[in-house]
Amino acid sequence: METKTEIIAVGSELLLGQIANTNAQFLSAKLAELGVNVYYHTVVGDNQERLLQAIQTAEKRANIIIFTGGLGPTKDDLTKETLAKALGTELVTDDDAMQYIEDYYERTKRTMSENNKKQALVLQGSKVLKNEYGMAPGMALKKNETIYMMFPGPPSELQPMFTNHGRKYLLEALGEQDKIISRVLRFFGIGESQLETEIDDLIDNQSNPTIAPLAGDGEVTLRLTAKHSEETTAIQLLNETESKIRERAGEYLYGYDQSTIMQELVNVLIKEERTIASAESLTGGLFAEQMTAVKGTSAVLKGGIVCYASEVKEKQLKVKKETLEKDGAVSDQCAKELAENVREIMDSEIGIGFTGEAGPEPMEDKPVGTVYIGIALKGKETKTFLLNLAGSRDSIRKRSVKYGCYYLMKLLNEKS
Ligand code: ATP
Repeated sequence: METKTEIIAVGSELLLGQIANTNAQFLSAKLAELGVNVYYHTVVGDNQERLLQAIQTAEKRANIIIFTGGLGPTKDDLTKETLAKALGTELVTDDDAMQYIEDYYERTKRTMSENNKKQALVLQGSKVLKNEYGMAPGMALKKNETIYMMFPGPPSELQPMFTNHGRKYLLEALGEQDKIISRVLRFFGIGESQLETEIDDLIDNQSNPTIAPLAGDGEVTLRLTAKHSEETTAIQLLNETESKIRERAGEYLYGYDQSTIMQELVNVLIKEERTIASAESLTGGLFAEQMTAVKGTSAVLKGGIVCYASEVKEKQLKVKKETLEKDGAVSDQCAKELAENVREIMDSEIGIGFTGEAGPEPMEDKPVGTVYIGIALKGKETKTFLLNLAGSRDSIRKRSVKYGCYYLMKLLNEKS
């Protein structure tokens, strides 16, 4: 069956611009991984008449209709009531959901108000999708060759509900026998167009696995999705395609799935038992902040100094006066001294220094986006790297940190 999905997000907050429709974004991405086509996103307020119209429109053009939001206890939560009306079915109390709600109130020693019972009402004949992170259960049913699914609005409830229960229901309802397995390959240091050029024949001839590129924040990812009745064969298919991609662009591949380049760097530092310290001007501590967000960092990060003003570079980090006057704070030499001196000051094996023009206005004579990164490894000649980045202040700072991780990993790899 050709899948034609419409996602209907219910909530006046969405129409008022108070929140973005990230539920539709999440569901679309997940459905794309499953090879399910999404053709329409609809947003409708908490209004029964307009929701009814949206359902009628969707039924004409889609055979999978997914609702998000409006499953809660309050009066304006009317998704399931409206769908019941559209389908001519009843709402009935689901005993498990009711028990769950009662237990919740018992556990938290709160009194249950009458309207909370409304959350245990489900469409007659529907499969109840368990809500492990909230109270309103989801629902799924097939009627007149159309699949209807309902998820609660909060993303923290919807996402696990889809992943743990909704996905399985949908695949079964579509009669999908195959196992579907995805793997995300993460690249840094290569642009999206360059990566696509390297592998354009693989993209052109893709069928199983499919290859979906995505770019953002200076990174490129490729999502490979394989289908097969045997899980081991699906994994084998992914491995084969991954090695073909590695042959062309392996040097830029830094990790998989949810990993980050900082995470990978910290893992390498932990494994090699190396300590690090940072001196940060334009990144203002972002490198150290991101590093401390990774579990286990205490074993490797000695500390960091935010050295925004020139006098701090000079007094605290011992950058030579001559360097600051002659080369400037945004210079190769300054980055080098920052890296070497912070390494000395903190007695670490590695020192990393960031200096540059984040914009929007240039401070010295260098154009916005000029960034120098210095990396000092104990017993080695200090290396510096020049970047010419485009984009906003925020994106220049974030990408500088990623480049710092990337260059450092490269240097560490060269050594071993
Ligand atoms: P609850 O049981 O919490 O009332 P609900 O299913 O009734 O859940 P809503 O009341 O519509 O859902 O929305 C609850 C919250 O979920 C919203 O305040 C918002 O933070 C978030 N939310 C709702 N819809 C979306 C959406 N489409 N994308 C992202 N977040 C959303």
